[in-house]
Amino acid sequence: MAFELHKDENGTEQYGIFSIFPQGLVVHAVSTRFGGVSKTPYDSMNLAMHVGDDEAVVVENRRRFLGWLGLDFVRLTTPEQVHDDNIVCVGEAEAGRGRFSYADSIPATDALMTDVPGIPLMLCFADCTPILLFDPVRRVAAIAHGGWKGTVRSIAAKTVRAMAEAFGTRPEDCLAGIGPSIGACCYEVGDDVAGKFREAFPQFADEIVSEHNGVIHLDLWKTNRLQLEEAGLLPNHIDTAGVCTACHARTFFSYRAEGPTTGRIAAVMAIK
Ligand SMILES: [Zn+2]
Repeated sequence: MAFELHKDENGTEQYGIFSIFPQGLVVHAVSTRFGGVSKTPYDSMNLAMHVGDDEAVVVENRRRFLGWLGLDFVRLTTPEQVHDDNIVCVGEAEAGRGRFSYADSIPATDALMTDVPGIPLMLCFADCTPILLFDPVRRVAAIAHGGWKGTVRSIAAKTVRAMAEAFGTRPEDCLAGIGPSIGACCYEVGDDVAGKFREAFPQFADEIVSEHNGVIHLDLWKTNRLQLEEAGLLPNHIDTAGVCTACHARTFFSYRAEGPTTGRIAAVMAIK
């Protein structure tokens, strides 16, 4: 298993892909901050419309990113992310929502899933954890937004359950990629957040919360991996990119490293 950055002919790192997803069945990628047209502090491939960047510029970035992947911008579907655990099933009626304007995005939703080929699902991130899911048997794709609030509410595990309820996905068939996001190396949290994780996940609290010299670090990658395993995914069906966005803020956008006024990378998936 691996997460590798794809480069264009000039050596620009355009996006990363997981080897775990079968490319013949599903197109997926996690963007970098390279190759777009946004200006500082959104330079250059900002894919989010809620951060103060010009919407027309973001549309151009979205067209470029999808173009690299051979995906259809007209069907690009994206939600208003609010750090909660609402999951929406995207069909023809929702296809294209949010592509041109934030106001038109699917409201108050932090995970999207679909079984319709050719609809690119997209969620945006700056340090929060992208969780990409694909069931190659039922042909269902999903992306969840796991910041600390979504992760503590088990949005990744709930998305697997939603795939099972809507489409008959068996968790043991499901493949997962945990994308670039803030690592335990850089993710310092307070007692309040650490306490919520210890309370939500007492069975593996010692593996996800650690304390060194009075500073508490939280491991969102491992929390999402372990909750997916508890949801029934096989350990060898879960790939973690292992790339910390705060350590690599030159390549990805990072809320912690750069502050709130920065761009957003995106994870995209579309069934072939
Ligand atoms: Zn780090």
